[in-house]
Amino acid sequence: MYATDASLHRAVPLGVAFPFDIDDVRAIVRFANEEDTPLIARGAGTSTTGAALGPGLIVDFSRHMRRMLSRDDEYVDVEPGVVLSELNRQLRSTGHRFGPDPANAAVTTVGGMIGVNSSGSRSIAVGDVRRHTARTNVVLSDAEVLRTGADRSDDGGQHHSASGIVTRMESLLGERQELIERLQPQRERDSCGYFLRLKTTGGPIDLTPLLVGSEGTLGLLTQARLRIEPIPPHSAVSLVLFESLDDALAAAVCAADFPISACDLFDRRHLSLVRETEIQFEKLVPRAAGAALLIETEGEEAGDVGRRMADVLHAIEDVAATADVAAQAVSGSKTALSVDDLWSIPRKIIPRLTRLGGERRPVPIVEDIAVPPAALRDFVRNAQNVFQRYEVTATMYAHAAHGQIHFRPFLPGPGPERDRLLEAIPRDLYAVAIRHGGVISGEHGDGLSRSAFLRTQHGELYRVFREVKDIFDPHNLMNPGKIVTDDPHVTIRRLRQSVDSEALPQLQLRWSAPTATQVAADCNGCGNCKSRSDAGRMCPVFRADPAEASSPRSKANVFESFLRGDVTATDLASPAGRDLTDRCFQCLQCRSECPANVDIPSLVIEAKAAQIAVDGAAWPDWALSRVHGIGDLATATAFLSNPLLANSTVRWMLERTLGISRHRNLPRFARRPFLRIVPRKNREQATKSGDDFAAAYFVDQFANFFEPEIGLDLLRLLDAVGVRCVVPAGQTASGSAMLAIGDIEGARTLADQNVRVLGPLARRGLPIICTEPSALISLKEEYPRLLDHPDVAVIAKHAVDAGVFLREYGDQLSRLNSDSLLDTTIAHHEPCHSRTLQTQRPYVDLLRYLGSNKVEAIDEGCSGMAGTYGLTARNYDSSLAIGRPLIQRLKSGAFDVGTSECSACRMQMGHRSGLKAVHPIRLLARSLPSR
Ligand SMILES: Cc1cc2nc3c(=O)[nH]c(=O)nc-3n(C[C@H](O)[C@H](O)[C@H](O)COP(=O)(O)OP(=O)(O)OC[C@H]3O[C@@H](n4cnc5c(N)ncnc54)[C@H](O)[C@@H]3O)c2cc1C
Ligand code: SF4
Ligand code: SF4
Repeated sequence: MYATDASLHRAVPLGVAFPFDIDDVRAIVRFANEEDTPLIARGAGTSTTGAALGPGLIVDFSRHMRRMLSRDDEYVDVEPGVVLSELNRQLRSTGHRFGPDPANAAVTTVGGMIGVNSSGSRSIAVGDVRRHTARTNVVLSDAEVLRTGADRSDDGGQHHSASGIVTRMESLLGERQELIERLQPQRERDSCGYFLRLKTTGGPIDLTPLLVGSEGTLGLLTQARLRIEPIPPHSAVSLVLFESLDDALAAAVCAADFPISACDLFDRRHLSLVRETEIQFEKLVPRAAGAALLIETEGEEAGDVGRRMADVLHAIEDVAATADVAAQAVSGSKTALSVDDLWSIPRKIIPRLTRLGGERRPVPIVEDIAVPPAALRDFVRNAQNVFQRYEVTATMYAHAAHGQIHFRPFLPGPGPERDRLLEAIPRDLYAVAIRHGGVISGEHGDGLSRSAFLRTQHGELYRVFREVKDIFDPHNLMNPGKIVTDDPHVTIRRLRQSVDSEALPQLQLRWSAPTATQVAADCNGCGNCKSRSDAGRMCPVFRADPAEASSPRSKANVFESFLRGDVTATDLASPAGRDLTDRCFQCLQCRSECPANVDIPSLVIEAKAAQIAVDGAAWPDWALSRVHGIGDLATATAFLSNPLLANSTVRWMLERTLGISRHRNLPRFARRPFLRIVPRKNREQATKSGDDFAAAYFVDQFANFFEPEIGLDLLRLLDAVGVRCVVPAGQTASGSAMLAIGDIEGARTLADQNVRVLGPLARRGLPIICTEPSALISLKEEYPRLLDHPDVAVIAKHAVDAGVFLREYGDQLSRLNSDSLLDTTIAHHEPCHSRTLQTQRPYVDLLRYLGSNKVEAIDEGCSGMAGTYGLTARNYDSSLAIGRPLIQRLKSGAFDVGTSECSACRMQMGHRSGLKAVHPIRLLARSLPSR
């Protein structure tokens, strides 16, 4: 899980520690000393340089040490695991923010930002993390605590005493002052090596700026005091297109002379990704555009920011004739695109970069060069010569007005040629950057990728770096090999290699293109799936318990290790392996929202199948995935089974044997399954040839065994719009419940039966209608992974959500409009699977067509029920934690009824909210004339 980050590197750690507080951290350091074990501090693990990787003990600060401790109008005290966007969300309540704004703010931690001295698009106005860090508390390699900070009057002045470090640093810096001033000049952007320009006069030395950017090599940060600032009330943002990259560079250099707060540059390839992200951007950015700038001005007065923006744009037109303002937004004003819409561009496309390319992929290896803005154009021209020399092309994204350039060259996959280029290109490119007065790292740090090149950057000063390291960490326990290293080839020493496709374990799903190996390799470690921002829905499990093991990324990592043979099926079946896979309930949100579209859910199914192959399915999982097997009997004896299921002793026994939580209200079995009460006219025998039917209904087991009225109402609605629908006999449960527990063979048997029944209908062009999203997912996405049958693709093509199908008949349905829904306030919850299928909430439209003027699409995230996940006692609490926002909203008293097409979501919606939740088909059918 912790072997990779967002870099090219891979290092399997010895273990992971999750400290709760500073005492834990000190205990961990004492242990490391006793065992002579290196310690690698880690935040979100999104370093692009491998800075948080190593073969020692990882100290994961992101799990428990994520508290905001105190704040006033100037400072905030935080623990290192606080995520930037969560910090800013809290600060926003008083109109403040922490200024540095890396593009992955939704994920990155304060500790990681301090570790590498991050910055972001607004760095030209707000500067880097170093400028914003006032104090730190750091546990040193001897487990002593060092407290740094210029002003420590409020804590009794107990600063800097630890280990005599301050005194020794004062004398070292005094001795090396000339060297430092000559070889580490003051720069706007600098995240390489140790920062040694510390104030050595006027009181005790403050080591804070040195610790910022030290990448966990000098100590473990346990607390920091950060400077915060008021959020400027007004901002204006413009997206300006250019025909060529050079024009855009000229414009950026020009813009740098104005009081702007940001100026990001996107090259042609980035613009192709911009077009891909959203329709509105596709229209905005023509294919001919060669580059673009996103420029921002911020300020106190609305008029000022607008005027300043107009001045910048005017000046740009003079230096770049092809400049074309494609979009403009001003905060607080109504424009086609808002300020946030425009800022979503870099946030969305940066993690998507890995989608570009085929055999050759854009890789982060020289992704962080910064040069003085005046040298930008010349440097880029010379950099392109270097790429040409090695016959590679590269993407370029830049915080252009302050000369920060993120190149990503397209390199071949793992192998000797890639390794050669990974050393040769940086060597030549860094030489050019340094010649132009630049640095090899402006905001991402050195890590494994760049530490070998620090001598090129700093020359003799590198010796002083080593002396600093010796003072702080004489036994080289703290993140060894980063910044100070003796290994000239550290860049290529620990690279993530390809999986040997000849030696794969037995897999059970059908993996054609892409193969399981490709899918796992597609995860670039960007960490986007650890976001808890309101803008998305992945990953519900991580949101409720933000541990690395809950993240989709952890599944890709462990599965890749399984493919490599580093993790065996027995390991997967161990309690730790099961704990990992249990933290996924197949909501599919990660697959839709992951910028690289990594199919994590299928990897998890395959991992669960490997567990079953070792020691079978857990009995409760096995039983719960086979409700269809007892459905006929349970319905036939509903007069007995329903009272029994309501009996507290029976529920207690069910919890003990099947693990079904006794706190859940179970649905009642119907007296007869839907498939036994299908109206005669909807049976296949109703017509001689069957050709009269215009659609077919694939019934799910909930509608079949628990609420046949859903199916009956669907048939009535279809009748009302003149669609004759057949309910094919011989169909069975979709098998999704089996698949979710990894019982691939069981699911395949059911899929095979359904494909035989539905195939001939689909081949005749009949839409296959589903009222349950998981059944639709089975037909569209799961069966192709299960079966090699020609009808599978045809069925997938014709499978359709009932709401989507009915929406096509909106006009006819509107005519049925009655008063039955008029006074009902309806809350509609969109299930995760419908979201994945992008059905676009058809039931909200339908309810409106049929007379409801009080239907609201509420978006409170995943319900947390996820099939049978939330039914079990072991997941009951986490299921409720995930579904809490939804339940709270329903409890607000604003609604009369809840609706959702997913049966599991409805169960959660009705749980403790005091509201009844129904399938929207049932509400729609109320408008029909009574039978
Ligand atoms: C999609 C994407 C976009 C990015 N955009 C930007 C950007 O705009 N600007 C930018 O600057 N960077 C950017 N980055 C790079 C990187 O994410 C950031 O630099 C980030 O700040 C790292 O934070 P993290 O929490 O992931 O730290 P990690 O990767 O976990 O760690 C980074 C370093 O900090 C050290 N560290 C972490 N916690 C501690 C601690 N408690 N004590 C001591 N050392 C510690 C680690 O040992 C490591 O050396 C981006 C990365 C990605 C994948
Ligand atoms: S699964 Fe996707 S979002 Fe998560 S780390 Fe991998 S590539 Fe990034
Ligand atoms: S499928 Fe859902 S629960 Fe599973 S990893 Fe992806 S987002 Fe998380």
